[in-house]
Amino acid sequence: MIKKLKEGERFTQKSFPCSQCGASLVFCADENALRCEYCNTINHIYPPKLPIYEHSLDDALKSLETSPKVDLSKDLKAKCPSCGADFEIDSHIRSTKCPFCASPVVTNLDIFMPLAPESLLPFSINQKEAKIVFKKWVGSLWFAPNSLKKFTEADSRFTGIYLPYWTYDSQTHSRFQGLRGDTYYERVSRTVYVNGRAQRRDEMVPRIRWTPVSGEVQRDFNDVLIGATRTIPRKLADSLEPWDLQNLKVYDDKFLSGFESEVYQVALDDGFSYAKEYMSYEIQEAVRYKIGGDKQQITDLKIYHDKSTFKYILLPIWTAHFRHKSKEYRFAINARSGAIKGERPYSKTKIILAILLGLSILGIFLFVAEQGGQFNQIYIELGNF
Ligand SMILES: [Zn+2]
Ligand SMILES: [Zn+2]
Repeated sequence: MIKKLKEGERFTQKSFPCSQCGASLVFCADENALRCEYCNTINHIYPPKLPIYEHSLDDALKSLETSPKVDLSKDLKAKCPSCGADFEIDSHIRSTKCPFCASPVVTNLDIFMPLAPESLLPFSINQKEAKIVFKKWVGSLWFAPNSLKKFTEADSRFTGIYLPYWTYDSQTHSRFQGLRGDTYYERVSRTVYVNGRAQRRDEMVPRIRWTPVSGEVQRDFNDVLIGATRTIPRKLADSLEPWDLQNLKVYDDKFLSGFESEVYQVALDDGFSYAKEYMSYEIQEAVRYKIGGDKQQITDLKIYHDKSTFKYILLPIWTAHFRHKSKEYRFAINARSGAIKGERPYSKTKIILAILLGLSILGIFLFVAEQGGQFNQIYIELGNF
């Protein structure tokens, strides 16, 4: 799975010309194929019907140690295959649009990376549908500033992007030591004072009896997904689950035409550390369940990972960032399911107006109550604020 970089390899770019008119084809989510924006010709993609392999993590990490490092830190020079313009491209961008003619540009950046993606989920939600999802989301937000609503009108700021993800499988075996807490009740005699007179009263007070427990837990994990991007916060990238990973297609760069795509920026071993954190959380839940009782303490937990495997995949999202009061906010839409997650600004004006309105309603109620009136007959019109 780790590639050997051949000598003399050059950074190149390509586009996919239409079989009818020669214009650059872009991937069309509705057709699940390449489509010409000029003559509407559909050019189908036939990814090979191969199984999508899981690779041994240990083997890959070993090979990575000895694989040659290529310095891609400098911005790379790209040449648009359509208009011939030269432009700079960030060292983690595999595909983009030409800044001069907006033609799709797909680079061969992966050949300089030790690992290349082997599968992806193609876009199934187009930009129009993504905008509808975004509009609905904005509409559902309380106290969202009006500028956010206006933002939905601008198409160009919605970017379709394939983000790199690692998926990890692992068979885990864990040994634990802990304490099981069982509640019991103890009769306690207390002195209470009733009308100034002391009385003895019995009360049942809950106590916990701790007993040491040790044992083992087995748990198999499948496709723990870790975003390998730094473009959007990992928390946001990881929050877009679930993904229909059973529909992964064998990688073909035609799927990328017209979209941005990135190579991984989180190393394979770092990704596995994040995955292990997630797995550990689930294992602790399983340990607590096994300890049983009313309360549990885990005093020692050793987790062993066996037969860990991984895949390097690309997943499609629509994203945009917007500024509100000089702060950046980002959101992302799962371009398979339409799920949306994002950071959001609050409109101070709207919140203050709502508080003022709340206070004035309270004022009216208090006033009416003071007048001895019944306040179940009050109707208050709430305007659009
Ligand atoms: Zn055409
Ligand atoms: Zn161009």
